[in-house]
Order: sequence, then structure tokens, then C-alpha cells
Amino acid sequence: MKIAIAGAAGRMGRVLTRIVHETEGLEVAGGIEPKGSSAVGADMGELAGLGPLGVKITDEPLALFTRIEGLIDFTVPKATLALAELSAQARIVHVIGTTGIDKEGDEKIKAAARHARIVKSGNMSLGVNLLAALVRKVAATLGPDFDIEVLEMHHKHKIDAPSGTALLLGQAAAEGRKLDLTKSSVRARDGHTGARPEGHIGFATLRGGSVVGEHTVMFAGPDERIELTHRAASRDLFARGAVRATLWAQDKKPGLYSMADVLGLE
Ligand code: NAP
Repeated sequence: MKIAIAGAAGRMGRVLTRIVHETEGLEVAGGIEPKGSSAVGADMGELAGLGPLGVKITDEPLALFTRIEGLIDFTVPKATLALAELSAQARIVHVIGTTGIDKEGDEKIKAAARHARIVKSGNMSLGVNLLAALVRKVAATLGPDFDIEVLEMHHKHKIDAPSGTALLLGQAAAEGRKLDLTKSSVRARDGHTGARPEGHIGFATLRGGSVVGEHTVMFAGPDERIELTHRAASRDLFARGAVRATLWAQDKKPGLYSMADVLGLE
């Protein structure tokens, strides 16, 4: 299966190039970076620390779409939405790891999924998706006197907050509690906030250093507290998850799928 990697020179893009190259049945067929990027024309293997692969990074995705079967995309929302339109036209597999996509963007991705096979997840790791299933269950089991808070920490270069994973875990908690996350989430607290109302799901964001990604969901009750935590030790696990999603989606019908679908967790 011929795969292109969008954001090929980025932190995730370089790891993805290595993991795709190492995976039997997959071939690194191209890389995409924005116009003006100094990485355009660079050899993808060299950037990923593999030595030359003979595959160059392009800023002209259109030509690439005529000869690829899958696109793995960890970029920025604007790029992902433009690429999703091309994936729909080419009817290929599009695995989206990009976070920070708003509601309007989600609608565009849904429209593209009428023709493309899209797997989108704020976190591609098995551990976090399993954690989300546990969070849903714990939230449904414990009563409303257990307050739910989601705490996350990432490296200082991350540009969106809360993380896509924190939102994915908050959504799982909301589903377990039968709450609408858009109405119950509290993204920040500052000053005289008053007492914590029942039924809120709080988010707290830490940024610093080179932390790959750490998430804790707390259930704070009257006399006890349960904490469920996931710590990512390297970016390889996200890339391996994205590759698993690509292989899974290749014989599926067009549609929008989640990692829970890929991992059979729903
Ligand atoms: P990064 O190092 O900034 O990489 C993003 C890359 O995308 C950069 O090389 C950037 O190029 C490129 N890009 C920007 N616009 C583009 C366009 N129009 N076409 C092609 N490429 C474009 O960021 P990262 O740490 O790899 O993270 C990327 C995304 O993945 C973020 O949204 C992050 O939250 C998410 N992420 C998701 C998971 C998951 O499991 N779902 C895991 C880790 C990260 P320039 O630098 O030249 O702009």
C-alpha cells in the first residue's frame, strides 16, 4: 500500500516515515509540507534518520494523490481540511491525527468521509483508547457526587489546549454520565469562581519541556479519589496506531471511523 505523509518534516511526520518504512506491506510514497517550507525537496529518509529513501517532500499534493492509496496526516487543521477534500476526490484512506479541529471543520471531514475512508482520533494509542473505555465505565458507575477533572501535560511546543486526548477523555466521561460535554465542560478557572457546581467536567492544562503526553482523569468523591492515568514515553506509539488504522481502513467502506472502531473497543 503506497502511503504519503502530510507534515513529513514535523515531529510526528519524521517518526511516521520511519514506522511506515519498517511496516511490511506499506511503502513511503511521498511527503507533503506547506509552500515555502525549507523541507520541500528534502529526502524523507534523511529527515527521518534512515538514510536516503529516494522519496522527496513536495508542496504540490495534487500530483501525489494520483498514485497513493493512503495518507497519514498529523499537521494543522487548515491543512487537514484541504487534504480531506483531495482524499475524497481520490477515494483513498485518510488517517487524521491532527488536533484542534473545530465543529465546522468536523462537518467538512464528515462530508469528505462520504467518499474517503477516514479514521480520525485525538489519540492513536491503544492505551489511551482503552483508558477512554474505562473512563466511560467508571463515570457511569460512580454517582454525581464524584467530580470529574481531566489533567494533561505536554511539551512546550504544543499549539492547542486542552489536548485532543484530554477532550477525547472528557467526552468519554460525559457519555458515561449522560452529559453534553459542550454544555458541561469548564476549560479554565481564574479569580472568584464560586463553589464547583455538580455535573461539570473540568480541564487543566500544563505545558513544559519535552513531555510527549500525560493525561489523568480524576473522580473526586466525598472521602476518596480515583485517578486513571496514561503516560506516553515516545511518539512511536501514536505512529504505530496510525499505521494500524491505515491497514484496518484499506478494505472498509467510505466513512468516518474512530480508533475505538479500529481497535474493536466499541
Ligand atoms: P509539528 O512538529 O509542528 O508538525 C506539523 C507539521 O505539519 C509541520 O512540519 C508543518 O510545517 C506541517 N504543515 C503545516 N501546514 C501544512 C500544510 N498545509 N501541508 C502540509 N504540511 C503542513 O507538530 P507535531 O508535534 O508533529 O503534531 C502535529 C499534529 O498532530 C498536532 O495537531 C498534534 O496535536 C497532533 N498529534 C496527534 C497525536 C494523535 O495520536 N492523534 C499524537 C501526537 C500529535 P511547518 O512547520 O513548515 O508549518
